[in-house]
Amino acid sequence: MRQQVKAVRGTMAILGAGIMGVSLAVMMARRGYSVSLFDKEHEPLACASRWNEGKIHLGYLYGADPSLLTARHLLSGGLCFGRLVSELIGSDLESHTTFSDDIYLVHRDSIVGAEALGTIFERLDVLLHSHADAAHYLVDVSAARSKRLSKGELANITGSEQVVAGFQVPERSVNTRWIADRLCEVVKGEPNISLRMAAKILSAQPTDGITGQWRVAIEGEKTESFDIVVNCLWEGRLAVDRTAGLEPVPGWSHRHRLCLFGRTRQPVDVPCAVVALGPFGDIKNYDGRSFYLSWYPSGLFLESGELSIETPIALDATAQQCFIDDVRAKLTELVPNVSSMFNDAEELEVRGGFVFAQGRGSLSDPKATIHRRNQFGVNRLGGYISVDTGKYSTAPWLANSLARQMCGVE
Ligand SMILES: Cc1cc2nc3c(=O)[nH]c(=O)nc-3n(C[C@H](O)[C@H](O)[C@H](O)COP(=O)(O)OP(=O)(O)OC[C@H]3O[C@@H](n4cnc5c(N)ncnc54)[C@H](O)[C@@H]3O)c2cc1C
Repeated sequence: MRQQVKAVRGTMAILGAGIMGVSLAVMMARRGYSVSLFDKEHEPLACASRWNEGKIHLGYLYGADPSLLTARHLLSGGLCFGRLVSELIGSDLESHTTFSDDIYLVHRDSIVGAEALGTIFERLDVLLHSHADAAHYLVDVSAARSKRLSKGELANITGSEQVVAGFQVPERSVNTRWIADRLCEVVKGEPNISLRMAAKILSAQPTDGITGQWRVAIEGEKTESFDIVVNCLWEGRLAVDRTAGLEPVPGWSHRHRLCLFGRTRQPVDVPCAVVALGPFGDIKNYDGRSFYLSWYPSGLFLESGELSIETPIALDATAQQCFIDDVRAKLTELVPNVSSMFNDAEELEVRGGFVFAQGRGSLSDPKATIHRRNQFGVNRLGGYISVDTGKYSTAPWLANSLARQMCGVE
């Protein structure tokens, strides 16, 4: 049901049409607000929010943060992701959600050993069960537990000596390409949203003090002024924040990662697996035929602590084939069944995007700050609001709480 905005009046610009900007724009529009939504691309959801693994985090991937601060910060967003996205797109996610729990395969070079990881997982189970929304995850996880695989169960997945243990954890993933298509339809059909594509944002500055209007500069166009500006630019966010007078907190990093997205002609029996914990890989089998594969060291094409960052030039056909061969070799060494995904592929794309993190360092270094993701969220300067999405899985939750605040619901 549509509500009228009471607390906020005036014009609003949302910068960035990824899952964060689009979710917020639709939520505000449905409350009766008029929104201008800007993006440098020609279509919404063309970047990281389309081309990612879609793990809806419950914290298990952050086993190298024994404080559990990361898990606590991720949990609420992950648990309400399914409900909020279903409301946005008007459709259930069930047939686009992985149909089995993730298997964490503990690599012999894991930065957290199997015993210690098992203990952390048990603590995460307790955290999960104590959360009021545990029944509302993509599946009901209010009584779900992580479980160490028996030797036989592990041998069914891998015979590799590089894998020393396996755990089943109650995490699922969603097919981000399918969700991106649905969100595109919704945002294009929303009469209260003015879509401003192919519009690169250069800066945002106050016209008359931070509580007055904000002037947004768009490459090759006249500046435009708004009462509220929300920066959801992900890898472009900090550069615009600085123009607005919001100084970035030191210690961030930008990484550009490539992965494989594909589809097989017929269903393949390959489990959803995460090689843990460190610079390894992931296998996602969303519906038997749609899949995602990554091998982190091969796919990491750029890593930078600079403020501004340009998208790397796309790989040519030869470099793409080398990348595909490398991912295939590394993953099939650990999970031989992955070869069926390649043998039967009718589509295989090399895609990816930026990962912004308020943390840096190598995944192979247990002390690196990159293993903690507990600092994302919203930062304000009068009518200028900057949102660090944190994760795909936390975007709708952050958007929902921001929309509620802006509309005076809380
Ligand atoms: C390979 C990979 C795997 C990942 N796996 C997961 C996962 O399993 N689970 C998870 O939760 N997260 C995952 N992530 C992270 C996740 O993709 C991001 O957290 C999320 O998509 C960020 O959403 P966003 O809307 O903030 O950013 P985006 O989707 O990148 O949207 C930002 C938009 O801003 C636009 N933009 C940027 N700068 C400018 C500018 N100056 N002017 C105009 N427009 C601009 C871009 O074109 C883009 O459309 C992964 C990321 C990658 C790359």
